[in-house]
Amino acid sequence: MTYIEPAPIKDKENPLESMMQRFDKAVELLGISEEMYYILKVPARQVTVGLPITMDDGRIKVFEGHRVIHSNILGPAKGGIRFDPAVNIDEVRALAAWMTWKCAVVDIPYGGAKGGIACNPREMSAGEMERLMRAYTVAMLDVFGPDRDIPAPDMGTGPREMAWLMDEYSKAKGMTVNAVVTGKPLVLGGSLGRTEATGRGVMVSALAGMDKLKINPYKATAAVQGFGNVGAHAAALLHERGVKVVAISDISGAYYNEHGIDIAGAIKYRDLNKGTLANFPAATPIAPDDLLTLNVDVLVPAAKEDVITHENAPYIQAKMIVEGANGPTSASADDIINEKGILVVPDILANAGGVTVSYFEWVQNRMGYKWNLDRINRRSDRIMKEAFDKVFHTSQQYNVPMRIAAYIVAIKKVADTYTFRGGY
Ligand code: NAD
Repeated sequence: MTYIEPAPIKDKENPLESMMQRFDKAVELLGISEEMYYILKVPARQVTVGLPITMDDGRIKVFEGHRVIHSNILGPAKGGIRFDPAVNIDEVRALAAWMTWKCAVVDIPYGGAKGGIACNPREMSAGEMERLMRAYTVAMLDVFGPDRDIPAPDMGTGPREMAWLMDEYSKAKGMTVNAVVTGKPLVLGGSLGRTEATGRGVMVSALAGMDKLKINPYKATAAVQGFGNVGAHAAALLHERGVKVVAISDISGAYYNEHGIDIAGAIKYRDLNKGTLANFPAATPIAPDDLLTLNVDVLVPAAKEDVITHENAPYIQAKMIVEGANGPTSASADDIINEKGILVVPDILANAGGVTVSYFEWVQNRMGYKWNLDRINRRSDRIMKEAFDKVFHTSQQYNVPMRIAAYIVAIKKVADTYTFRGGY
């Protein structure tokens, strides 16, 4: 037997199971051997630690933290740290693999990793969060490293937590090592352009897709689900490029204006309105699910996973879907969408602008130099456009949708690199 598999993730329709189904399909098309299949599938390293933390009330609570390096074949591993009550090792393993394919598809020299701690950041004080983050960093001192494994923020963590990680790691090494983590505050060596990078990559992918479909951006319409970091920046940048964004949404509801929404105005409204679009006056409220089936050229799901399913896919009218979120389309919707001839720019490509600028942050830290925004945008736009073209070309070559083509590009790159590097 080549490998004894752990028990599978139970829910068949979850985004991680969807990812595996697409991975398996791409592997089959590439004709990869069973040995290589398991080399690509089984994580290189996984570490679980118990973290006893003194809480503000004086009691000690023990948290479980994980770090999984799925692959370090292309280079040091890269991936976020998630603080969420639902964190478990199966999920972290799958998310780490996702990072491997995302980095490979945009051709940046990183493997994939993910970390997580089962905790509820909404119920923790800043002091408790700080002690937890520092304890986790110390527990992972021989895992993390600018040449080994470079963490970043994910759900429940942000620049503040990354600053603590960098500080704790630097203290342990006796020198400042800012390249050990990305997503840091600007003053600690964070990169310009990181905040809007994912939304910007979504915009670049959308324009590249429109070009293939011969859609003039100045005559195009778009609907964007989610108005957070990814959705709001994607909407603003599409608007800037002449696309008429007719619908936006967030957790408070969906808002439609056939004449186009002033996105800068919507962002200003959100920021003055406790971070939500509730009662947004410059558009008409519509049912949240209706946003997904509007008659628009471009649909950008940028909120959460599994929003496009076999149930609503038959009603989607958009000519292309650009996946800002991770896993917004469940595998059961793939065939329906493909049969309808909708061009899907898949998540591992469309939202890779964020990890690309994280890579630039690491490069700048290692150079001890700071790039200006113009350089960052030009370089990340080029990387996104080249990755789009490569995936599009592969989809034609293999006669498969761009989603499977993205996995083919990524898997082939990692498999070829492994073959050159060799094993035991
Ligand atoms: P965020 O928390 O900044 O924003 C999420 C937005 O979605 C908010 O506006 C929220 O109100 C809205 N939302 C939540 N549930 C909704 C629902 N049911 N209907 C409509 N809107 C809803 O998060 P983000 O950083 O923008 O991430 C969004 C997605 O993009 C996630 O899937 C994330 O994993 C993915 N992603 C983010 C980045 C990044 O750099 N931030 C990179 C890659 C992928």
